[in-house]
Amino acid sequence: MAIHRLPPLVVNQIAAGEVVERPASVVKELVENAIDAAATRVVVAIDNGGRDLIRVTDNGAGIPFGELELAVAPHATSKIETTDDLNAIETLGFRGEALASIASVSRLTLVSRPAGADEAGRIEVEGDRRREPRPDSGPPGTTVTVRNLFFNTPARRKFLRTEATETGRITRTLEALALGHPRIGLKLTVKNRPVLDLPAGQSPHARMLHVLGGELEPQLLPLELDEHGVAIRGMAGRPEIARGTTQHQHVFLNGRPVSDRAISHAVKEAYRGLLDPSRHPTIVLFLTVDPGHVDVNVHPTKAEVRFRSPSTVHTAVLSAIRRSLRDADLTPAVDLGPQPAFSSGLASGSARGVATSAFVEHFRRLDPAQKGFVYSEVRQALQSEAPEMLATEATHSTVADVEVLPTFRPVTDVLQVHSSYLITSDEQGLLIIDQHALHERVMFETLMRAVGKGNLESQRLLMPAMVEVDPTQIELLGELRGLLRRIGIEAEPAGPAAVAVHAFCSFLFERGVEPPDFIRELLDKATREGVNADPEAALHETLDMMACKAAVKAGDRLSPREIAELLRQREAVERSSRCPHGRPTTLRLSIEELERQFGRR
Ligand code: ADP
Ligand code: MG
Repeated sequence: MAIHRLPPLVVNQIAAGEVVERPASVVKELVENAIDAAATRVVVAIDNGGRDLIRVTDNGAGIPFGELELAVAPHATSKIETTDDLNAIETLGFRGEALASIASVSRLTLVSRPAGADEAGRIEVEGDRRREPRPDSGPPGTTVTVRNLFFNTPARRKFLRTEATETGRITRTLEALALGHPRIGLKLTVKNRPVLDLPAGQSPHARMLHVLGGELEPQLLPLELDEHGVAIRGMAGRPEIARGTTQHQHVFLNGRPVSDRAISHAVKEAYRGLLDPSRHPTIVLFLTVDPGHVDVNVHPTKAEVRFRSPSTVHTAVLSAIRRSLRDADLTPAVDLGPQPAFSSGLASGSARGVATSAFVEHFRRLDPAQKGFVYSEVRQALQSEAPEMLATEATHSTVADVEVLPTFRPVTDVLQVHSSYLITSDEQGLLIIDQHALHERVMFETLMRAVGKGNLESQRLLMPAMVEVDPTQIELLGELRGLLRRIGIEAEPAGPAAVAVHAFCSFLFERGVEPPDFIRELLDKATREGVNADPEAALHETLDMMACKAAVKAGDRLSPREIAELLRQREAVERSSRCPHGRPTTLRLSIEELERQFGRR
């Protein structure tokens, strides 16, 4: 085939291939146009998942009669003029492509009336056939109607999913746009039935609650930061409301919904250790940066952007979220479910009676040492001057500068039950603490601070400790050398299947961890999972393991002094509500929940 110019229809359909992936993309482009036209109210109507009908009506600036043909022509826009304009885009659209693209794969009708005009104008396009504009009636504003989407592109049509799926995508697209533009009233009807109705003039906060669900309010922590030309507002969800998908993550840059790797990474990083890595936090971020510091012309649907300084944005997002999480009390509340039916008296009493007596029986049979005790000594230990710290023996300098946060308050009574849990209280209710999980977090933070200052303190052994290993693990030892040095361990191969440990980490030593156990576990883990190529990540994983080994275990009886110290450190370290793997260390049973359960209200 000789080289030839493509007919305009094909050119537009190629452009449509990028911009108009599915009905939700049409809705996005049309609503963005309405927002750019300064509309205060936008109504979207769809039928059959947008396949049969998408209609977007706005009360914005409208299009003059003489410009109707240009509006649906490719590369025609009223939003930019010169190359310089491209460097500082403040509108959502600028490519002048959307209407032409949509029209090339559907039957499109546009009716528009500018504010001052006496009457509206109408233009109809279907594939490459266009009707002359003609006068029409209608209120000020613009209505774009798109019927039979992809009627002439069967390949695209085949990729559409069920009506419910496409409707869901449209709803989420609108919710995202609505979050970014809280003052614009937005309504969606599906087959004439309203499914979304957001009033005009909402504050960003009210809009967030309206879209995410008002019941989430107590779970959302406000965010605010202005730093190095980046302003951030929004909400960070408590770890409990994290989801299995990123559906509840909304990031806006200058009002535009975007997905950006640096930002996603910062969000993940901020929640690290507070969430299981497979969960995604609920978060709404509104970023404002100088339009000149970001290139939005890198993606056809403008979903991705390029920052001039991604690291500045990364740092800002990370510190905004971290700060708000740090300032909050992240102890998860226990919800015991519906209040039991007290009024039914004897009727329900029998079932309940069985449960209670079984529990009482079990408790009676327990060894007295397992039942737990009220430690009035704990209180004394807490109040005593200059108490020893649980880990002080190991890392003097590092624990001493764990700053005590201003939330510190003395604990009154504590009970250790089943040698595993500590039960105490604060002003909001009852706290149930998993001693191992909490101590693991404390150990982890202690180790993090210590390695931040240099290699961990090391202790030379009088006689090297010999560890039998698998011959294939000898090679791994070489890969781990740098890591071992940082955690204060010196180990050399000693024959084809043995390792000699010459020096061991003082911290682990003093927490009763034996060198052979630790080295073997480290090598086994490296064999199983490989050594992380990122040295910082590999170090974190190892500190994690060290914290777990060094921490008190479930089943360890703790002395009053140890309990006092653990509770003190709960106040002192960051992220004490979760262990390094994201599981809770503490649960709170609030006074309200207790009153509800006991039928006091
Ligand atoms: P872009 O938004 O990139 O400029 P579009 O193809 O989406 O390109 O729209 C072309 C032009 O049509 C816009 O620049 C604008 O002038 C006009 N337009 C489109 N939709 C509307 C609307 N809802 N209200 C007013 N003008 C509109
Ligand atoms: Mg547009």
